[in-house]
Amino acid sequence: MSRFTLEGLMDSQLPCYIGGAYVDSNGEGIPSFDPATGKPWCQITDCTADDVDRAVKAARSAMYDPAWRDISQSERGTLMYRLADIVQSNVERLARIETKDNGKILREMRALIGAIPVALRYFAGMADKIEGTTIPVNKPDMLNFTLREPIGVVAIVTPWNSPLYMLVRSLAPCLAIGNTVVVKPSEHASAGTIAFAELMNEAGFPDGVLNVVTGYGDTAGEALISHPGLDKIDFTGGTLTGRKIAASAAQNLTPSSLELGGKSPHVVFDDADPDRAANGVVSGIFAAAGQTCVAGSRCYIHESIHDEVVDRIVARAGDIRIGAPDDEATQLGPLALWSQVEKVGYFVDTAKKQGAKLAHGGGRPKNLGDGWYVDPTVFVNVTNQMLVARDEIFGPVLGIVKFSTEAELIELANDTNYGLAAGIWTRDIDRALRFVRRIDAGMVWVNTYRAPSIMSPFGGFKDSGNSKHNGHAAIHEFSRLKTVVVDYSGATHDAFVMRVVK
Ligand code: NAD
Repeated sequence: MSRFTLEGLMDSQLPCYIGGAYVDSNGEGIPSFDPATGKPWCQITDCTADDVDRAVKAARSAMYDPAWRDISQSERGTLMYRLADIVQSNVERLARIETKDNGKILREMRALIGAIPVALRYFAGMADKIEGTTIPVNKPDMLNFTLREPIGVVAIVTPWNSPLYMLVRSLAPCLAIGNTVVVKPSEHASAGTIAFAELMNEAGFPDGVLNVVTGYGDTAGEALISHPGLDKIDFTGGTLTGRKIAASAAQNLTPSSLELGGKSPHVVFDDADPDRAANGVVSGIFAAAGQTCVAGSRCYIHESIHDEVVDRIVARAGDIRIGAPDDEATQLGPLALWSQVEKVGYFVDTAKKQGAKLAHGGGRPKNLGDGWYVDPTVFVNVTNQMLVARDEIFGPVLGIVKFSTEAELIELANDTNYGLAAGIWTRDIDRALRFVRRIDAGMVWVNTYRAPSIMSPFGGFKDSGNSKHNGHAAIHEFSRLKTVVVDYSGATHDAFVMRVVK
């Protein structure tokens, strides 16, 4: 029976997890808040530089330990299948912990944690299919091939919006390849990651393959990403933090994968089905209270269908059931942080000042106590120059821009520093594919939105990041490529001339 039930965690201070065991730290406690009440519900630990050092060393010794280094790829896959089964029987418990911690609705967290076994099994199946290539070099009697190897110790730094899913999309390929990991979850939502760690023991992973340190970004986070014992940094979070991580990683020349913020365009053409398109736009911005990296927060609607679709979006926004995240009927829960509530307020005020017209919301529900709730908010008459169309808000705020031609639309949609995702609603396949070709976004959805898959590469362009997670691409992201040349001619060559092919 796990000690990490929701009730068991209440008011306790959580340990970190190093070398296969939960350990206490001398670090200060940090309150973790329940966004539904605005009150602290447990404490995590601000791990010290010593804790971080121990965790990296534990990951390093696990990397060299025959119990991990020398097991076959099929055995790694078997451990991962076992972990998948164990997670599957813990979905409800983990989902309740994460909902308490970040305020996202229980149905959403259940779906995300319910997808973790699928992710683990997908990469478990890959563990014994990671291959190099044979290269027919232009030299007789020479064999040239490549090996895909584990990269080593990987630091995974995760955000608060979907902590466990974000962890596992990186952890699963790391395990399949044979890396070891130190994870630093967000100080705002660490409990789920701590609770997950013991499942690694239960599945039979050797000690030190996964380690968890908690704490603030500028203490535990900095200590981790500047640690010289890392071979790779994998960061998911905001673009500003991503820049700091990249600068710090550069000091040690540690390669870094960055999955960052977005300001994704969601386009509705005049030939779209207005009901399906409005439903897609609503889902793109109001699901998870807009706290998703792929939130379709800039909406472009063709002038001839604009009013009809706006009416539908506003009507749907008005029908959204706002309430406690663990209520099965709730569609929109609280925001995860009080600072996010303030940020939304600032964007709403600025949008009004800059001339956007408020079509729905803009305030906070009055009947939900001290919880960090905000109303689903829709602005029309938005232009690309307004702040509401430029910066990531990470809240339920939609800005709608009217457009008239396809050429104008492409220009507007690409007029952003971000390049994470994009969506288009149209029944014209030629137009859809022209959009797909011209849009600067790493993920494009046609007549759907917010439909990722662990099997499908995901990752942004421009300020949205530099890497790919999910699918075969993740194996490349978390492995290193070694080239081997074998001369089987038996000949002795000129010692002073490079054997370059002419
Ligand atoms: P954040 O950048 O504030 O924090 C992310 C993580 O980085 C946290 O664990 C934090 O403690 C840590 N951190 C902060 N400063 C650090 C430092 N100097 N050194 C080391 N670690 C540090 O992001 P957030 O508010 O937790 O998450 C929201 C952001 O994440 C949004 O911008 C969202 O778009 C983005 N996100 C992106 C993806 C994606 O796949 N592209 C997925 C989810 C979230």
